[in-house]
Amino acid sequence: MRLSVVVPCYNEEAVIELFDAATRENLDSLPIEYELCYVDDGSSDGTLERLRKIAAEHPATTRYVSFSRNFGKEAGMLAGLKEATGDAVVLMDADLQHPPELLERMLELYDRGHDQVIARRTREGDRPLRTAVSKLYYRLVNRWVDVELQDGVGDFRLLSRPAVDALLSLPEYNRFSKGLFSWIGFDTVTFDYGNVAREAGETKWHFGALLNYGMDGLISFNNRPLRIAIWLGLALVGVAALYAAWITGVAVIDGVDSPGYVTLIVAIVALGGLQMVMLGLIGEYIGRIYYETKRRPHFLVKETNVPRAAFRSEGY
Ligand code: UDP
Ligand code: MG
Repeated sequence: MRLSVVVPCYNEEAVIELFDAATRENLDSLPIEYELCYVDDGSSDGTLERLRKIAAEHPATTRYVSFSRNFGKEAGMLAGLKEATGDAVVLMDADLQHPPELLERMLELYDRGHDQVIARRTREGDRPLRTAVSKLYYRLVNRWVDVELQDGVGDFRLLSRPAVDALLSLPEYNRFSKGLFSWIGFDTVTFDYGNVAREAGETKWHFGALLNYGMDGLISFNNRPLRIAIWLGLALVGVAALYAAWITGVAVIDGVDSPGYVTLIVAIVALGGLQMVMLGLIGEYIGRIYYETKRRPHFLVKETNVPRAAFRSEGY
């Protein structure tokens, strides 16, 4: 049994060596072969130097790939999955928020025949507002989206080789992994672990980024939002028809004298706003088509210790 641990890193110089040491210690105690596949996602700090050093110290068990710029965590995970050669792959964050002690548990569940072993974090220690917003978001998303997304379930998981190959067979440019993991299916098992704070360095998720991510979750999987636009439009036509009938009735019975300035302004502004939102929604889908049709590589590699012949990535 050979395990690959895939680690996307972006400006993680403060923790990467700690992570490496802690993870190796755990892996060494397990009865398996392993490799660590680091992906430097265009870091602007000393992450790459650290990776070179780690690779020099452990040449047989370290692979690293360094991107030409920051392509985002999704691209990092994809590159890692492509480079991984193991029978199973674990995706981990570099900041030790995914405790390496859990690897043993994951392997145990893998041995029992599960293809996806998900470690779900509890939200203890998170700010209550953030927790509440997340809960609400997941309820909303699960109502809309075809695949099931779970609160607290992130990228920390073990994937069997068939599951990895299934993921790699999805060529889309816009990758919303949370959904893709769920979309591929396979025998999945989930266990919980206590929330851990980041060891050092800082999170790359700020409010705007979270908002964008949330939007991606809503539109990455189907065209249900467009459907909603259609229903909303029809509902409005219905309301307008009723209102027209009422106004006509009043005019016939009481004679014509209806100032209606406020009604007019409100109707114009509300409808204008709604049309903008719906246009934006359509634009968002078209934008996605635009990106997909360009067929650009997901990432570009500037440096790696994987021999060129063995390198399976695009854009190198
Ligand atoms: N990451 C990355 N590219 C990015 C942003 C983040 O590879 O553009 C990596 C980061 O180095 C870390 C993991 O993704 O290993 C999770 O990032 P972070 O800890 O900032 O997210 P959080 O844990 O706060 O959700
Ligand atoms: Mg983190």
